[in-house]
Amino acid sequence: MTPGRMMHFPLTLTHLLERARTYFPRGEIVSREPGGALHRETWKDVYERAGKLAHALERLGVKPGDRVATLAWNHHRHLEAYFAVPMMGAVVHTLNLRLHPKELAYIARHAEDSVVLVDRSLLPLLDQFVSDVPSIRHVVVIPDDGPTPQGKLDYEQLIAPERPDYAWPTLDEHSAATICYTSGTTGNPKGVVYSHRSSVLHALTACMVDSMGASEHDVLMPVVPMFHANAWGWPHTAACVGAKLVFPGPKLDPESLLDLMAREKVTSTAGVPTIWLGILAMLDANPKKWDLSRLRQMVVGGSAAPPSMMEGFQKRHGITVTHAWGMTETNPLGTIARVKRELETGTEEERMAVRASQGYAVPFVETRHTSDDGKILPWDAETMGELEVRGPWVASSYLGEEGKDRWTKDGWFKTGDVVTIDAHGYVRICDRSKDVIKSGGEWISSVALENALMSHPAVLEAAVFAGRHAKWDERPIAAIVLKKGMTVTEADLTKHLEGKFAKFWMPDAYVLTEQIPRTSTGKFLKTKLRELYGEMLIKPAKPEK
Ligand code: AMP
Repeated sequence: MTPGRMMHFPLTLTHLLERARTYFPRGEIVSREPGGALHRETWKDVYERAGKLAHALERLGVKPGDRVATLAWNHHRHLEAYFAVPMMGAVVHTLNLRLHPKELAYIARHAEDSVVLVDRSLLPLLDQFVSDVPSIRHVVVIPDDGPTPQGKLDYEQLIAPERPDYAWPTLDEHSAATICYTSGTTGNPKGVVYSHRSSVLHALTACMVDSMGASEHDVLMPVVPMFHANAWGWPHTAACVGAKLVFPGPKLDPESLLDLMAREKVTSTAGVPTIWLGILAMLDANPKKWDLSRLRQMVVGGSAAPPSMMEGFQKRHGITVTHAWGMTETNPLGTIARVKRELETGTEEERMAVRASQGYAVPFVETRHTSDDGKILPWDAETMGELEVRGPWVASSYLGEEGKDRWTKDGWFKTGDVVTIDAHGYVRICDRSKDVIKSGGEWISSVALENALMSHPAVLEAAVFAGRHAKWDERPIAAIVLKKGMTVTEADLTKHLEGKFAKFWMPDAYVLTEQIPRTSTGKFLKTKLRELYGEMLIKPAKPEK
């Protein structure tokens, strides 16, 4: 081998923030506070305040490798910790504020968190589990909605006396930068440990035009929480290019988000479908209220984006939805639905079908799907199998070596998603493997049925799940939330599905409900639906609690 003669230059988050400070010192970070006021600072401020925070954490005894947890909404101080902690060689661990205190205690204990930075507005939550985590030595309160209570360490007071210049160490690019736990609905959450290198490569990829296409001209608003797979890497991506960042804080209702988007001239935003469904309904009701002319895309992922929603945004409001797939274990970006040149000549309907798929893999992520007995399946758009991925920002193991069965012998990560892949490489998710409906031995894709049901004008949301059946083992049942003031009959819904699917795919029953139960990251909680209604084809449903 002839060695290359390029410099060894570690890929670390330090470079990203130093670059933002050097070239885009006036680039803005806007955060909505719980009371509604907007806080503004710059990339230079973030850099300097990160330096102060690093000094302060050092004073509290934080050493390289230590875990510093955050329990916080999306805002500027969370961003400061996002960089300061990994840049000083420690590891930032983002706790999911939607979890039960018992789960949080388990996760914080498992990660051995030593310090917690907590929003004052979330102190009541922390108070419910902090005493169950012996490793926590200090609690630092971020005064988001008022002054820090007497006797507690206050973030601002802690960093105030410190110098902004910190001698950031040269780090090994493979060292841990961030930890995020999976939000799986079965078994204990598992810790995913991102390295500096994986986060930097992920950020670079997010800047590619055929990916998220982030640039310095962008105003990026991650609605996706910073505790959910690094807010899909957007804080890192924004620093990489020096984009303006807008953080919505805890105000996630459609009106507050739309106000913020219009006011701050947001160009690109990201979140799960529920958020955008609410926004679409609000825009439909008030089509002229907000000037969103600067918005170039809404990135949707975390659950399947219903094509009817994508179409609604495009046709009625001229807003482009970009559909992407990823997981906590993949930092998260894996695939994104861009229409390739060779498919551009298709009809509008065909192009929409491509955009509504989960897309094809971004560079350095590789995809394949396999059968139950591990055979690699053909890319024929029909054969369903489990999606497997590998790449430099795909986890190679979990913290504590749990869940080893998620990796194949030849080093691929088993996603648990049941998919088809077409000849162009586009992945289409049919289900989570544990949610798949097996009727008489045949698979039925709940996602395809949900998408079709959500294209009915009266339906706001639809979740299809497996009901136990005496003859066929399992049959599909659809839980439906109607749009305000709308009514529908089962016959209407069945008619709407007819002709789109094989007869045996038709749901056996419909359940009208006010709300579909969700996980802490906004996905349909099908275990709960099965618990409530899964026996109804055999015996009557239990009343909803
Ligand atoms: P999480 O680790 O919480 O981000 O969840 C990852 C899981 O969310 C994936 O394995 C998928 O089941 C689901 N998911 C993510 N993006 C999409 C998408 N675009 N369409 C359908 N499911 C998705």
